[in-house]
Amino acid sequence: MIDIKQFAELQKKSKNSFANQRQLMKKVMAGKTVLCSTCQQPLFLITPKHSGPASSENSGICCKKGCTDIQLEFV
Ligand SMILES: [Zn+2]
Repeated sequence: MIDIKQFAELQKKSKNSFANQRQLMKKVMAGKTVLCSTCQQPLFLITPKHSGPASSENSGICCKKGCTDIQLEFV
């Protein structure tokens, strides 16, 4: 059973994290160094060009360790 209030709270949170992801992405794309909040390693941008054929449709940002792995859906 989902409490409506909880649900609204959940939506709010996911909206916030989406906004955060967009912020992160903007910074990384602008060439700024952004550290992974988990491992403190710099995040880097993955573009379809740089990734293998299997993931040619995906771009995103991730860290070396993979604890941050944000897929972007614009191509
Ligand atoms: Zn990390």
